[in-house]
Amino acid sequence: MERVLRGLPASGGIVAGPVYLLRWEVPEVAPRFVSDADVEAELARWRRALEAARQRLALVAERTAQHAGPQEAAIFEVQQEMLADRSLVGEVEGFIRDRRGAEHAFDLVMLEWKRRFERAPQPMLRERVGDLTDLHIRVLSLLLELPDRDPVSVPKGTNAIIVTHDLTPSLTVQLDREAIAGLATDEGTSTSHVAILARSLGIPAVVGLRDATARLAGTERAVLDGARGVLVVNPSDEEVDAFLVRAQQAAALEAELRAQANVPAQLADGTRIVLRVNVDIPEESELAAESGADGVGLMRTEFMVLGRTGMPDEDEQYRAYARVVRAFAGKPVVIRTFDIGGDKLPVGGFPTEPNPFLGWRAIRMCLDQPDLFGVQLRALLRAAVHGDVRILLPLVVSVDEVREVRALLADAVRALQQRGADFRANVPVGVMIETPAAAVAADTFVQDADFFSIGTNDLVQYTLAVDRGNVNLAERFTPLHPAVLRLIQRTVEMGARGGLETSVCGEMGSNPLMAFVLVGLGIRHLSVSPRAVPLLKRILRAIPASAAIAAAEAALAAGTAGEAERVVRRLLRAAASDLSPAELGLLGPDQVDMFPRAGAI
Ligand code: PEP
Ligand code: MG
Repeated sequence: MERVLRGLPASGGIVAGPVYLLRWEVPEVAPRFVSDADVEAELARWRRALEAARQRLALVAERTAQHAGPQEAAIFEVQQEMLADRSLVGEVEGFIRDRRGAEHAFDLVMLEWKRRFERAPQPMLRERVGDLTDLHIRVLSLLLELPDRDPVSVPKGTNAIIVTHDLTPSLTVQLDREAIAGLATDEGTSTSHVAILARSLGIPAVVGLRDATARLAGTERAVLDGARGVLVVNPSDEEVDAFLVRAQQAAALEAELRAQANVPAQLADGTRIVLRVNVDIPEESELAAESGADGVGLMRTEFMVLGRTGMPDEDEQYRAYARVVRAFAGKPVVIRTFDIGGDKLPVGGFPTEPNPFLGWRAIRMCLDQPDLFGVQLRALLRAAVHGDVRILLPLVVSVDEVREVRALLADAVRALQQRGADFRANVPVGVMIETPAAAVAADTFVQDADFFSIGTNDLVQYTLAVDRGNVNLAERFTPLHPAVLRLIQRTVEMGARGGLETSVCGEMGSNPLMAFVLVGLGIRHLSVSPRAVPLLKRILRAIPASAAIAAAEAALAAGTAGEAERVVRRLLRAAASDLSPAELGLLGPDQVDMFPRAGAI
């Protein structure tokens, strides 16, 4: 077997540990019929499996509640209720009485229920399809006597490397940081929600391995290198040593860079760059604040909903936002309204539309459900009392949407006034530029928006028609494509003409090579992952604005993304010549290239 499995980098860090293979897929079931004499025995077998599944769910809920919290554990209570449903149990038992084997009977019922739920007009039912799939897997695994592999069962201190096809919300909430050292998935890319989440949780991760779950038996040991996107199976002692040396070197350099965390982010000629961080879960805010960033440029509120069975209420949202705002003590905190849908799963975790990226998501969904949106707007206005909160709207394509939000904000103000609540009304409202429509028509927003934030993950996806989460397209996801660069350039120009701040909050900004180009295009505000802050500061301080402008001009003049990358890489190395060899090492092809091809280890 190939020992070096190459995927895509998702979250940096090198870890070694036992492989924990998580095959969370519905097992194949062959039709099976039994004789009349065996019906009672099949019924008994089914009831034992049902009871075992209930006990297992109770255990999973209890452990998840301990390490993640009761809201996260609620998903398993819902599944327990579904499993207790009398009509579900009755249908399975009916099929068994018709002389079907227990697993065959259960499989038929689940397939039918999933079909029914998927087509249901009520979103509440469609959202439960993911839970039905979980139950389908769990009960069939028991009936077929397959191994029980809930990630929550990994004992603390195991240092396990979880290898799975994709991370569902119910698997994600089970991840216990004290048991899991690394994460490897067949699916996903550097900008998919799994990768974003792994970075926020600080779990080293490789995604897009395609067939790792098929190749591995689950008995192996492995070394995972998240920054390079490789998983080395059953490494030799020398290989482990080599990785550990690299890990130590990286840690030493990181510590050195972190020691300078409080120097301002500026270019070599003194041009100030405002470097903020992306915060995806409120719990990471205190650590993120220590990165030396100038505030939060993007808080992705939808991660609060991941794996949950319902939306958080106003008080819970207020507490979460206030926590982030307080952690950044007066620095700007840009909080984005729910960007649910697309690759960010809805409540319940099941995409309820055939084409979710072009569907009812983000600002569209919020505007169509003013009651749900109002809760978030009121929580935001209340949190604004504690600092410099700014509201950011995702997936905007038309200025009408901004005006509608302003009207809803006015309603929220009235409601809070009537209630006598403590809040602040004059909160800036910004627009995410993440569709070609918004970039081309950026000028139409300047009267109504207070700032722009370019979401390059989606801007690249929608401009190049490349699904950001599709591993087969990862090489075609090229932020340096001339069309993308021109859209960014236009947005910066329109923002400047309208007197608006224009920042970049997509993953592109976390990458030194790309940041070099963005600064050259006139970007003066970046929002990046907290771990990227020290190195970016170091590199920004080594390059003068003139070199960045020359790089942007060269990139714009290049006919293709590949050509642009080559010329920009050369210019960055020349411009940042005073970096130490170790720092320059971090600019090697794997690290500088945001979406690297398979790199040598
Ligand atoms: C983006 O699209 O670039 C962005 C920052 O938002 P998200 O990755 O959450 O879609
Ligand atoms: Mg986006």
